Amino acid sequence: MKDLTHYINGERVPGTSGRFSDVFNPATGEVQSRCPLASKEEFDHAVEIAAAAQPAWGATNPQRRARVMMKFVDLLNRDMDKLAEALSSEHGKTFPDAKGDVQRGLEVVEYCIGAPQMLKGEFTDSAGPGIDMYSMRQPLGVTGGITPFNFPAMIPMWMFAPALACGNAFILKPSERDPSVPIMLAELMEEAGLPKGLLQVVNGDKEAVDAMLDNDIVQSIGFVGSTPIAEYIYGRGCSNGKRVQCFGGAKNHMIVMPDADMDQAADALIGAGYGAAGERCMAISVAVPVGDETADRLVEKLVPRIEKLKVGPYTAGDDVDYGPVVTAAAKQNILGLIESGIQQGAELVVDGRDFSLQGYEDGFFVGPHLFDRVTPDMDIYRKEIFGPVLSTVRAGSYDEAIGLAMDHEYGNGTAIFTRDGDTARDFAQRINIGMVGINVPIPVPLAYHTFGGWKKSAFGDLNQHGPDAFRFYTRTKTITSRWPSGIKEGGEFNFKPME
Ligand code: NAD
Repeated sequence: MKDLTHYINGERVPGTSGRFSDVFNPATGEVQSRCPLASKEEFDHAVEIAAAAQPAWGATNPQRRARVMMKFVDLLNRDMDKLAEALSSEHGKTFPDAKGDVQRGLEVVEYCIGAPQMLKGEFTDSAGPGIDMYSMRQPLGVTGGITPFNFPAMIPMWMFAPALACGNAFILKPSERDPSVPIMLAELMEEAGLPKGLLQVVNGDKEAVDAMLDNDIVQSIGFVGSTPIAEYIYGRGCSNGKRVQCFGGAKNHMIVMPDADMDQAADALIGAGYGAAGERCMAISVAVPVGDETADRLVEKLVPRIEKLKVGPYTAGDDVDYGPVVTAAAKQNILGLIESGIQQGAELVVDGRDFSLQGYEDGFFVGPHLFDRVTPDMDIYRKEIFGPVLSTVRAGSYDEAIGLAMDHEYGNGTAIFTRDGDTARDFAQRINIGMVGINVPIPVPLAYHTFGGWKKSAFGDLNQHGPDAFRFYTRTKTITSRWPSGIKEGGEFNFKPME
């Protein structure tokens, strides 16, 4: 059995706690390696190394830091296939999807090449007699992040690229389900010129997370994962005086108006509902057709498309629509929720429970499911399923449809499909959700905008990437300076007017 490592002070180092977590090949169900789970001592040791390395990096001019990012982009492109292969083998997502995972992280690295511009600060000349005032953004010091299993390349890069570009050190505690890619990324950053000790990867579970939360040297924590853990980390991190941003779960609704192009809406729901086996925080898990006639037309279009979905391992080729879910426990949770949907009276229009793939009987595959006539009191509506299960809630009117999305406790993303500009505009204005698509099912903002939900999908003031990332990873200091030699007694200027 292969034992994975941490990445501390520029080296892959074995775990010393004696605790491990199994890493599966989700397509076969086999354990392929063991991930070390760090003790508090191991985590604290990494913090000491980061704290020693950070001051010199923070004092390095931002353009040189940006050049490291530039080189890192080249290396990501060079190693794209290698990274995607490692990612798919532990996560289970298709090869094109794994490359997309790396690509969407890379785009944030590209954005961070603009650090010199973003960190320029503000200056007021002659704020008073002989007085200038300027504000600058300084790094926080040692920062940390805790990431989920579903984007093991993208989300770490969303955190460490801006953190490092701003002059911080960063310690990543990635998901113990798919820990290989984060270490490969840290090695590539050093190949790109990052001095050692500035980006370290400490694998682990709650013990490592608690060590990060309680270590006084760690100044900020970014978290992405499920809502209960987000709430826990936000609460404990804030009460320990840290700057914390936490992004949680989702239940994204897509409203389909009677005037929508129904083929376009159905195609969008297939990609957004079943892509990546539904394991995306921006997946659409609830379709809300307005009116029974719209619902009937939509379901009629969805069924044949769902039945055509190709489910398989990433090794089966690029035409596979989605792969297995991440663990046997995730599969059991999804199947349990499907049973609850049936018991609570939803109509299971496409039943994927018998799905099995020859040669991969022990893999964590879940066939696609479609529920119709789901109601807001059902567990499949209230809870995040995080699997290939789409629920249809029929709404009688647009107001009822928007009300559903607004009343749900999650507020990550949402979409509306319509040809009517007034309705689309009203939706975008009124909805209490962070990311909104108009005839776009997964409205993930590009790197130079910010990413973040509302309500129970996010905790903290600032979003991920975009300008917010530079605010999150820096502290503002404002300096007021006065040079008395420039002023005469009585406050008049001593400058000679220009001839
Ligand atoms: P998770 O909450 O189980 O784990 C996330 C991280 O927290 C992991 O690193 C894990 O090791 C750690 N963790 C788990 N239990 C912990 C505990 N008790 N104490 C301290 N740390 C703990 O989430 P996951 O299953 O890896 O990821 C899926 C979830 O992430 C979904 O809810 C999804 O919606 C969410 N997600 C949200 C976004 C977003 O931007 N809002 C993006 C991606 C994923």
